Amino acid sequence: MSELTDLYEEIARCTRCPLSQTRVKTVPGEGPENADIMFIGEAPGFHENQQGRPFVGAAGKFLEKLLASINLRREDVYICNVIKCRPPGNRDPLPEEIEACRPFLDRQIELVRPKIIVTLGRYSMARYFPNAKISQIHGRPRKMGGIIYYPMYHPAAALHQPRYKADIERDMLKIPQLLAQIDHMADDEKPPQAEQLSLF
Ligand code: URA
Repeated sequence: MSELTDLYEEIARCTRCPLSQTRVKTVPGEGPENADIMFIGEAPGFHENQQGRPFVGAAGKFLEKLLASINLRREDVYICNVIKCRPPGNRDPLPEEIEACRPFLDRQIELVRPKIIVTLGRYSMARYFPNAKISQIHGRPRKMGGIIYYPMYHPAAALHQPRYKADIERDMLKIPQLLAQIDHMADDEKPPQAEQLSLF
């Protein structure tokens, strides 16, 4: 047992929002407890709700392909979501659901202490880059409090809209370089929309 597995049990018992009444399984997240890279998606979908594991459907397959492009397997990284239970019919998460789940995600970050947090899609981006537009800031890292926050499109977006595919593939390829540079990067005070945020 570890503090992280204790947290998974706490999530499994959670009744903080009505999604607890419709879920099959909670999907807390998974990966090494000391992972350097944490990917944060949106919410569990149909297959995740059945299996209790994040990104096991079509978007997950694509995420695995993207990881392979930088010589990583899903077991090498930590993968979770902004909310831990499936919204019925895969609707977008509601602000109150995101708020109810917020302490779980905060605790996961505290325990795993990743060097890079990759946000996948608008909902996880909004936690760290409020009011930003994903089309403008994807692929632009920002270092805050010693952690690099790195927004990317959601893999499901690339599956449904091929025009995002090249962007996601390109953004993923920058991650090894970011990891290598992290100790030499200064914390970034400026808002993420600023042009000079791009390191590349
Ligand atoms: N999409 C997400 O955002 N998370 C999952 O776990 C699966 C699909």
